[in-house]
Amino acid sequence: MHPIARLDHAHVWHPFTQMRDWQKSEPIVIVDGHGAVLRDIHGKEYLDANASIWTNLHGHGHPTINAALRRQLGKVAHTSALGLANEPASRLAAELVKAATAAGPGAPRSPLPAPHLEKVFFSDDGSTAMEVALKLAHEFTRRTKGQKSPRFLGLEGAYHGDTVGAVSLGHIDLFHKAYAGLLFKTDAVMAPYCYRCPFNRAKPERADAREYRRCGWECVGKVEQKLASAKKRGTPYAGFVFEPLMQGAAGMIPQPAGWLKRVTDLAHGHGALLIADEVMTGFGRTGGCRAVAQGKKGAVEKSSPAPLFACQQEGVRPDFLALAKGLTGGYLPMAATLTTQDVFDAFLGEYEDFKTFFHGHSFTGNQLGAAAGLASLGLLGSPRSVTAREKLEATLRSMTASLWTSPHVGDVRQVGLVIGVELVRDWKKRTPFDLREKAGIRVCEAMGRRGVLTRPIGNVVVLMPPYCTTPAQAERMVTALRDSVDEVWG
Ligand SMILES: *Cc1c(COP(=O)(O)O)cnc(C)c1O
Repeated sequence: MHPIARLDHAHVWHPFTQMRDWQKSEPIVIVDGHGAVLRDIHGKEYLDANASIWTNLHGHGHPTINAALRRQLGKVAHTSALGLANEPASRLAAELVKAATAAGPGAPRSPLPAPHLEKVFFSDDGSTAMEVALKLAHEFTRRTKGQKSPRFLGLEGAYHGDTVGAVSLGHIDLFHKAYAGLLFKTDAVMAPYCYRCPFNRAKPERADAREYRRCGWECVGKVEQKLASAKKRGTPYAGFVFEPLMQGAAGMIPQPAGWLKRVTDLAHGHGALLIADEVMTGFGRTGGCRAVAQGKKGAVEKSSPAPLFACQQEGVRPDFLALAKGLTGGYLPMAATLTTQDVFDAFLGEYEDFKTFFHGHSFTGNQLGAAAGLASLGLLGSPRSVTAREKLEATLRSMTASLWTSPHVGDVRQVGLVIGVELVRDWKKRTPFDLREKAGIRVCEAMGRRGVLTRPIGNVVVLMPPYCTTPAQAERMVTALRDSVDEVWG
């Protein structure tokens, strides 16, 4: 075993990892990365098929981001946001507001006045971005609506991070049971999961379940009932928390078109603040470039930028927008919580009123992170990146079609540049594998031996490549997945 691997085994405790299993084999030690390719300490190359747990956007070692970081390093790496402003964080805040408030192409209009994002609170990661949204929403509601203990409604299967507040907002039983004693109560309502929806009367087909489902939008009805009964009890929800277009850690579960718009209009109509967790979906992950490119005969114009956020694709205007993972292009831990002037104003007062938002982190507004974020946003807006994203989305869509030949592929669901492949014992009956069989883990291990790195979520294998992934690399990822499924059950 390599000495570095031995050090890891001796001292490093890995996240979400059964360390007994981890210690059984030599870990892959990464030493460098270029584009979608990672290289380990023995010189073996891998494709980064989940963009380093959903963070990387433009590939590793991107010259533009590297140069921006070097330039910033020549000035200063970090100073505190307590009492000091800095250039990259100020510029990044302005750019984020601009990007988040741009209208999506053909966005439907709401009958109600929509919130307008104005202010940016920086923190370190997705969990802290959600903690900030939660605390702000809680305190805003107490101050402006006179509710003593504001309550939140989230979605079944939701994941919003691992700090205690973020865990309280989430609803994944496996993660939550252990910490039940630490958490506060939030409510959950049914989220779409067309493939396994009890209201979907369609027999399984070899297609994304959203396309052939037969239902009466019962999932929207469930949200409506929940909102109405809370109102009837005299305790309307302070906030509705959601991952737009696709729930990530739930197993890459996409929402059928129109669901998000309907439920957020309902929640907004009931006076709930809309808290959008775009930690995974943000920064172009969910696609939506095509509408722009097609309208211009393939040419992308500066005047109609492709939307960077999932909410924009359904014309949803949230009161809070939590961003992290891709914010720095996947280079550095940095997060942002965007919110409205209204929320901001509720924290204004004389010093001695103590209305200050008492929350912050040592690295809030970090210059290096902000410099990377600015460079990444610049890349995202370039016609080259928009075209590349659009092409990669189409390439993946056509290549994953070949996965349907396997009887152990039950659902292949794609939203933009995210794909979840649900493995099943028998596709004709949607029979799931028992988690203890480690179906997803075994397939991902087999993919690793083929030089393709990703991680499963239970029985779902994730493909979420960096945007710079070439068609040949995308093909290798999909082929490795198909061959690995054949190997495990062949
Ligand atoms: C990853 C993730 C988080 C948590 O982000 P961390 O940076 O890991 O704290 C929150 N919400 C969603 C939707 C995520 O995918």
